[in-house]
Amino acid sequence: MKIPMLDLSEQYQTLKNEMLTALDQVMSSSHFILGDNVKKLEADVAAYSHVQHGIGVANGSDAIHIALQAAGVKSGDEVITTPFTFFATGGSIVRAGATPVYIDIDPVTFNLDPKKIEAAITEKTKAIIPVHLYGQTADMEEICAIADKHQLAVIGDAAQAIGAKHKGKTVAEYGTAATYSFFPTKNLGAYGDAGMVVTNDDQVAENSRVIRVHGSKPKYYHHVLGYNSRLDEMQAAVLNVKFPHLDKWSELRRERAAIYTHLLNEQLGDLVKTPVEKEGNYHVFHQYTIRVEKRDELQAFLKEQGVQTMIYYPLPLHVQPVFKDLGYKEGDMPESEKAAKEALSLPMFPELKQEQQEYVVAKIAEFFKK
Ligand SMILES: *Cc1c(COP(=O)(O)O)cnc(C)c1O
Repeated sequence: MKIPMLDLSEQYQTLKNEMLTALDQVMSSSHFILGDNVKKLEADVAAYSHVQHGIGVANGSDAIHIALQAAGVKSGDEVITTPFTFFATGGSIVRAGATPVYIDIDPVTFNLDPKKIEAAITEKTKAIIPVHLYGQTADMEEICAIADKHQLAVIGDAAQAIGAKHKGKTVAEYGTAATYSFFPTKNLGAYGDAGMVVTNDDQVAENSRVIRVHGSKPKYYHHVLGYNSRLDEMQAAVLNVKFPHLDKWSELRRERAAIYTHLLNEQLGDLVKTPVEKEGNYHVFHQYTIRVEKRDELQAFLKEQGVQTMIYYPLPLHVQPVFKDLGYKEGDMPESEKAAKEALSLPMFPELKQEQQEYVVAKIAEFFKK
């Protein structure tokens, strides 16, 4: 058997006719940038997120950068975040002119540990970026309470967590704004790059809309420095076709996750740590990530057996070469560094079959018997 991390082909076959019609309509209309498809997607995703505004942008990385700038983060400011995330979280802070301040994670959820926030706050701190890693929300109630006390903005990086909930609320209902990525591999994926800022804050929404078109307002007059970061009609049309299926896909991901957890606990017991859904969370399992010792050997063995796995992420941001001037060193974030050595993401997508999952778990069991 050959089992890929992600297979988008079945999804396309199911939606093909609708997809081709939607794309044909865009091409026939000759309206390619910020048109009706983008407006519809923005309205639908904002309503889905229980907030007033959705601002479609070019990708999820720009969404973070734009939300930070729209919330007033500027050169010289500090932004607290997790080092155990995709590069874009930290990169966007630097692109906004600010300095990332990394704090360690909670090893159970892999998300930023709220207990470490207050010690990292200085008079330069302007914002916190919690990342809802693998599809599980960070402890937003606790994080937002600290942010309110210190008057900090909270920009939730929800690139992996559209549809996730914390205590019944969406990721966008907490803090200043949340950002989504519609990169093809994400839970709601375009056929190219796309992203969105979602917020209840009228000013942040207005600022984001201006920044994504070169800071132009009125047209050809520039009071702020923006850039070109628009969501195009072709990607919005693709996303409009997929969006009505999102909740069903999240449910299927959760079912796949429950099957993995059941099989792994039954066959491997303590040898494998399965993901923990914290009470009050609705995890959307962008990734199904286990923790194991001898992770690299297990990954190599599974590869030989036809099972593709991924390591998200092998090197935490505080020790990335590009951030060396920030002055962190190996040992500063022990939980993130340990997670980077133990985390292994297994194949996960809504169309994954139970027999494929049984094969993956049987091969993991075989590895540990050797
Ligand atoms: C994918 C991702 C991003 C970046 O999104 P792009 O659309 O690829 O720019 C940012 N943060 C996290 C956690 C991500 O997984």
